[in-house]
Amino acid sequence: MFLSKSDYIIGLDCLKQLWLKKNRKDLEPEYDERTLQNFATGDKVQDLARDYYPGGVLVDAETWDVFGGAVKTKEAAKSHDVLYEATAVLDNGCFCRIDVLVKNGTAWDLIEIKSAAKVQNYYIDDLAFQKYVFENAGYPVINCKVLYINNKYVRHGELDIRQLFTEEDVSERVNAKKNEVEGFVKGMLSYQEMPEEPEIPPHSGCTDCPYYTYCCKDVPEYSVFDLLSSKKADLFYNQTKSFNVEDVSEDWCTSDTQLIDRAAYLNKDLHVEPENIQEWLNTLEYPLYYLDYETVQCAIPMFDGARPYEQIPFQFSLHIQEAPGAELKHVEFLHQERSDPRRAIAEALVKNCGKKGSVLAYYCAFERDRNSELAELFPDLAADIEAINERVVDQWKPFKNRFLYSYKQNGSASIKYVLPAFSDLSYKGMNIANGGEAMSKYLAFLEGKQTDEENKQMFADLLKYCGQDTYAMVLLMDVLYKFAKGE
Ligand code: SF4
Repeated sequence: MFLSKSDYIIGLDCLKQLWLKKNRKDLEPEYDERTLQNFATGDKVQDLARDYYPGGVLVDAETWDVFGGAVKTKEAAKSHDVLYEATAVLDNGCFCRIDVLVKNGTAWDLIEIKSAAKVQNYYIDDLAFQKYVFENAGYPVINCKVLYINNKYVRHGELDIRQLFTEEDVSERVNAKKNEVEGFVKGMLSYQEMPEEPEIPPHSGCTDCPYYTYCCKDVPEYSVFDLLSSKKADLFYNQTKSFNVEDVSEDWCTSDTQLIDRAAYLNKDLHVEPENIQEWLNTLEYPLYYLDYETVQCAIPMFDGARPYEQIPFQFSLHIQEAPGAELKHVEFLHQERSDPRRAIAEALVKNCGKKGSVLAYYCAFERDRNSELAELFPDLAADIEAINERVVDQWKPFKNRFLYSYKQNGSASIKYVLPAFSDLSYKGMNIANGGEAMSKYLAFLEGKQTDEENKQMFADLLKYCGQDTYAMVLLMDVLYKFAKGE
């Protein structure tokens, strides 16, 4: 059986995941739209990054043809100093393709291209494995480097590849791992061949695993992993072999929030602090403006004056309430052209947010940051936008601080959990049901990947989704008033 670099990274994380990947093809996870888009971004970044190391030759072999790729690499290495997708394979089944292989005297430098904006720890393991494979395949390696996105770069006109990327030499960190790779490889190679599925119980690191549904079918919807910190939850399971919050005594809790969540869950009840809710309500000034942005992020900036991964706002919803219980006014903005939306959204914001009254956002740091960026970008609107920012109040606060909490929130203060706990409104069944989906659909529109019909449907879905986000805040305000009065 082969062991690729991604297998190696998976194996370091969880050996059971490696075993499932190799032996249970029937459980192979389907990639969601966001993940597929990330793959496409990775490919685009790879293509651009090759210009950072110009004059190279692509080792052109089918993904499955590892041996063919290795033969072509040997051939190409005789006459070229820069190889893209150079492949090496060992007799024990380990293989990899390095993004860029650059001749350095009589040896080579390995360069891994990443679409992230910083060097992450697992890149070092990734390169340590690649160095092990290449060196044992007869390519002595001197330096290991990561080429990643420089998120300080501001685009002006044509992309400047030298500015878009940052190269970091991580040789020392990779060399520090040198001695451990062989041992891990041996372990993984024999582990993945095991006839029986290994017994590794669910743990706090399972949340983002593609096999979560399979491995964690016995973990309740609200479990110790939701209540306790990761370390404590793992320790609790190891000691008690239970995932159930019912079995967690107070001593395990390390914060007031955990104690409140635990008690509410055990009693299937609410936790209410009317005075604190009232105090927070007293900070509000009418009219109230309920604001929510949708944004899009690209690794490669699409517009002039934009940085990689900058959150570019393209839509907002604004519900306006003149007085408690007064009729609502709804204003919305959605940029429906393939152009920079920021000037138009900034003007629409200034036009509709008035001069006084609280501007409510749920987890307001996000909206505040977007406003500050717009103010910086458009000096002529800066004073108005900054004045809006001074009026921003966070509706997340009373829920995050547990002034009001329902056991139905499953330990989360996200609006996606708070809303259904206190109203009949929910995001279930919506075509666009979270910010990630809104972003990936809008990006597909910007990149021209959808038909006109799909775009039309997407605009309608976006308006519905963002509109619901601010309407949800209106409903939650009613809820807060009700509980402040002790109703
Ligand atoms: S869900 Fe957890 S135990 Fe199962 S494969 Fe993933 S990380 Fe490993």
